[in-house]
Amino acid sequence: MRVFTKPSMNLVKSCLDDLEKTWKQGETVHGPYSDEPLDGLVLTILSQNTNDRNRDRAFAALKAHFNTWEEAAAASAQELSDVIRSGGLSNIKARRILEVLNRVHSHFGDFSLKTLRGWETEDIRRFLEDTPGVGAKTIACVLLFDLGRPAFPVDTHIARVTRRLGWAEASMAPEEIQILMEELVPPERYNEAHLNLITHGRRLCTSRKAFCVECPLRDRCPYPERESED
Ligand code: SF4
Repeated sequence: MRVFTKPSMNLVKSCLDDLEKTWKQGETVHGPYSDEPLDGLVLTILSQNTNDRNRDRAFAALKAHFNTWEEAAAASAQELSDVIRSGGLSNIKARRILEVLNRVHSHFGDFSLKTLRGWETEDIRRFLEDTPGVGAKTIACVLLFDLGRPAFPVDTHIARVTRRLGWAEASMAPEEIQILMEELVPPERYNEAHLNLITHGRRLCTSRKAFCVECPLRDRCPYPERESED
């Protein structure tokens, strides 16, 4: 049985360097989506279980239909769901967005999360954790992309790639891989590494097939050997 050992930071660094050379996502890292972190939180909820294009279409429809978050909060779940239908899972997402808007308003007396910019990271994390429908990945996205705080969101692509690379155990949940990645990757590289690993998972290390022959990490990845042992 293969015993799991955490990879060294040097190994991770060398792989991240090669991923950056290959995918160059460090040149286009996300900044805040807008100066209102609540926009980023709603955008991240819309991104659950869909691609960036559908997420953006749903968010644009939301912004076009409602002038303010206050107007959106006054809408019914059905109306909201109809507006964001292009984003998929619209009934669930509409309910989540309404819950978020209500919680933000009841906590801050306003439909804004700008106050979070002055908070300690752990306090922000706790506030978001107590918000219904907001999970670890969404929290990490808002922290990293909208508030510029150190957090490493792990989606399905990053979970798959890091497991295949042997950086994470096969049984680890994305939330556990997030903690691991926050230890292994220097915080100033979180944004770039997150984007490069996702791109790698979409283009080469896909769920359907791993194109290992073309992979720049092949010499440091145990996955092809494991495949051949099967
Ligand atoms: S060598 Fe294969 S399994 Fe390993 S990261 Fe590259 S594509 Fe994925």
